[in-house]
Amino acid sequence: MNRFLFCLCLIISLGIMTRAQDFHSYANPSAARVRHIDLDWDVLFDQKILKGTATLTIERTSPDKPLILDTRDLKIEKVETSADGKQYAPGTFTLGASDKILGAPLTIPLPAQANRVRIYYSTSPGASGLQWLAPAQTAGKKEPFLFTQSEAIHARSWIPLQDSPAVRVTYTAHVRTPRNLLAVMSAENDASTPVDGDYSFRMTQPIPSYLIALAVGDLRFRKLGPRTGVYAEAPVIDRAARELSDTEKMVVATERLYGPYRWGRYDILVLPPSFPYGGMENPRLTFATPTILAGDKSLVSLVAHELAHSWSGNLVTNATWGDLWLNEGFTTYLERRILEAVYGRPREEMEAALGLRDLNEEIASLDDRDEILHIDLKGRDPDDGSTDIPYEKGALFLRHLEQTFGRARFDRFLKSYFNHFAFQSITTDQFVAYLKQDLLDKYPALSAKVPVDEWIKKPGVPASAPRPTSPKFAQVERQAQRWLSREIPTTRIATARWTTQEWLHFLKFVQDGFVSEPPASAGGSPSPTGRGLGEGAKLSAAARMGELDRAFHLTRSGNSEIAFQWLLMSIRNQYEPAYPRLEEFLLSVGRRKFIRPLYQELAKTPEGKQRALAIYRRARPTYHPIAVTSIDADLKWPG
Ligand SMILES: [Zn+2]
Repeated sequence: MNRFLFCLCLIISLGIMTRAQDFHSYANPSAARVRHIDLDWDVLFDQKILKGTATLTIERTSPDKPLILDTRDLKIEKVETSADGKQYAPGTFTLGASDKILGAPLTIPLPAQANRVRIYYSTSPGASGLQWLAPAQTAGKKEPFLFTQSEAIHARSWIPLQDSPAVRVTYTAHVRTPRNLLAVMSAENDASTPVDGDYSFRMTQPIPSYLIALAVGDLRFRKLGPRTGVYAEAPVIDRAARELSDTEKMVVATERLYGPYRWGRYDILVLPPSFPYGGMENPRLTFATPTILAGDKSLVSLVAHELAHSWSGNLVTNATWGDLWLNEGFTTYLERRILEAVYGRPREEMEAALGLRDLNEEIASLDDRDEILHIDLKGRDPDDGSTDIPYEKGALFLRHLEQTFGRARFDRFLKSYFNHFAFQSITTDQFVAYLKQDLLDKYPALSAKVPVDEWIKKPGVPASAPRPTSPKFAQVERQAQRWLSREIPTTRIATARWTTQEWLHFLKFVQDGFVSEPPASAGGSPSPTGRGLGEGAKLSAAARMGELDRAFHLTRSGNSEIAFQWLLMSIRNQYEPAYPRLEEFLLSVGRRKFIRPLYQELAKTPEGKQRALAIYRRARPTYHPIAVTSIDADLKWPG
């Protein structure tokens, strides 16, 4: 069988047939489709493995075809098959050759009546979807910690399954852990369950494999609202509960915009700092980085984002990783609508302006093929598609639709879209057909203003794209410009009421000012980055950074976003007083969004590269496998 050539499914929708081809799964759901998974594991911290069984319930449409599953580094002990769960009989299996990106196909021949398959297996200590933390890597320092990260195709490294977002399953799980630790999953979690090392879970709504999630640690729980709460380690739980106290308000605001929250509870798990992402939208239980705990709720846009995924992504899901923008573009747009509903329009404007700036910087560095919303990822790692394009370009496209058709019409469209495709995985073509039917064809004169094909299939951004601006940023820019030209001293910059977003904009604007004359336009306009600064300019930039640091103590900032931006500038301008903090930051934070650009920036000069390698040598064992894969490639790490 050619593993790249199979048909995921034939989905009949809107009277058209759409064939989705998933280049990132060996599975054959059109012949034998997994509908339910029953998991049973021992969590063995000493060996860094999960050991147990996965029992799959299969729906068969081609009786003579085997079941084909995705695996990566799994040790398969034996398989059994059964009809309707009666009497399991020994079965056979073959584990194919392992591909670097896709892992290995597990093929299980099925007897005529068989519709259950039980696989006895264990994971490997290096499983790409699991991170085992030593006590020293946790906040409490006393107990080990385990968490999973399945998106995009890492579920196969801890469960043998059909690892395609087009295959939705329900699941149950029985998990045994050390007696004093608590297990939680992306399922029904009972916060009052006794901590005894024996836990059972049920997820009754069909979800794609990348949303199956597990964490085990010395966790506490705090209630935030009637159906919202937070889990975290003891030293973090109070801070987390304070920071996330608006969560229930956000759920209510989102329901008002896009219809009911359909998943029961919405809880957030704050993980130890090595979590490689900002957040992961595991259903009912968002996983979040502790770097959002800024003390002033200024970074809770991440919660708005992960919550929004309960509609865009978890409810209506991208059918393949080439359709990722259907998850992330919609979610980034929804995130800003939630922020506007809860914190007001100026906050939304600032976030959108920062988003546009990030998008323009990203586009400046990407190949044309990677700037396309409906990206072709054939033969590539799906994590390659996770740039600002699906997020920010996708959100900008939806903003364009909103502005063209008017908010009331566009909100009505989105609400009906989420209803129409609820609990389904869809392709970009299905979205476009629905958009045409439910919005474009109803208003032909307005439709002519939105080049839908150009948005979805072409690189760059259409000339008619919105350009979000922020009056608050315009004020920041005026002050920054006067400071850069030494019209006002550092002490006269009126920062007292600045939010994190205003600080970030100030710092980026100042960095641009070190390179060239500051741009004259207001509010999030695109501008050059700090690359290519001459030695003399660096010296004076570093001196000016010193002035800011003495006044605002930016090197010591406890706000992760501000600290990151400052440290990036410190590398660019060789601002040496920040170097010890840079090292400390890289050794204590594992969020890829922060650490990867810092290593990349360091690696631009020979001395910087030496420093990067020296720090990375110490930090690497504490990073998540996903972050390690990226940074190994960037730094050409040996081995
Ligand atoms: Zn997202």
